Amino acid sequence: MSILRPVCASLSVVLSFALAAFPQNRTVAITVDDLPYAAADASPSLLPRDNQQVRGVNRRLLSAFRAHHVPVTGFVVQKRVEELGKDAGTGILARWTGTGLDLGNHIYSHPDINNLSVVEIEDEILKGEAIITPLMKQASKTPQFFRFPMNHTGDTQDKHDQIAAFLSQRGYRLATCTVDNSDYLFNDAYLQMLARHDEASVKKLRSDYLAYTSAEIDFYAALNKQALGYEPPQVMLLHDNRLNADVIEQVLKIFEAKGYKFVTLGAAQSDRAYEVPDPFIAKYGKFGPMWGYRWAEERKVKVDGALEPDPPEWILQYGREKAAKTQL
Ligand SMILES: [Zn+2]
Repeated sequence: MSILRPVCASLSVVLSFALAAFPQNRTVAITVDDLPYAAADASPSLLPRDNQQVRGVNRRLLSAFRAHHVPVTGFVVQKRVEELGKDAGTGILARWTGTGLDLGNHIYSHPDINNLSVVEIEDEILKGEAIITPLMKQASKTPQFFRFPMNHTGDTQDKHDQIAAFLSQRGYRLATCTVDNSDYLFNDAYLQMLARHDEASVKKLRSDYLAYTSAEIDFYAALNKQALGYEPPQVMLLHDNRLNADVIEQVLKIFEAKGYKFVTLGAAQSDRAYEVPDPFIAKYGKFGPMWGYRWAEERKVKVDGALEPDPPEWILQYGREKAAKTQL
């Protein structure tokens, strides 16, 4: 016993130090967009030519989510289900619901709603329910969440309010997100590297992606705390793509190492921070901002977006080179 005590004491010191390094009771909801497979915007030629690859990507994501007990919500682009072939696309999504995960509506064809009328948007929302509603029903659930492409929530007050009312009538809650890691940019470059068999770059990109993910989680945790005075549950935005399939284990471990427990999107958004109605925000550009920026704006808290880390320049550059050379 006399030998054990000092060991226990020093262990408890180590543990309490580790716990003090981050707030306790941290939680995060993991969300994955663009099921059943995210388009590679800058390199459509690199989309998989057969469904086997798409199935493999989803299988690896689901296997990691199961192993780490992550109650993910996946947001479906119905048009991509049809592009894969209805049976193949539905089969992939049925694995998600069969694993106990939830599906949400990410609109039919993934347009920028700023370019559509209210009637067109409503039509897109309804068509976006074709697969998710029956699959969720089989699991005795109904789709609860809707997420706008690019997080645009309406470019005029009128459009914003009409669509918000329509979504509410259909029983949807707006899916938020508080952390993103520009995974689509990394993935575009990653697909190029894989196509070129550029193994050295592949290895470096994976490592840089994980480092950037870690930095973004920390940045947004601090931003949210600055805006709200406490750390609310986080909502992580990832995409259903090859890069995430290859490193999802490590991404989940990063959250675990920072003390996060995985919760459902519904549980995350039950925090009071999410009670505030989504404001009309038209001034942002191509992508709607993460919620920390919105909270800061509502509360008139000055935050400096320039402090947010950027993805490494070499990765952005790799993407541009690839766009110029189409022979891949
Ligand atoms: Zn999307």
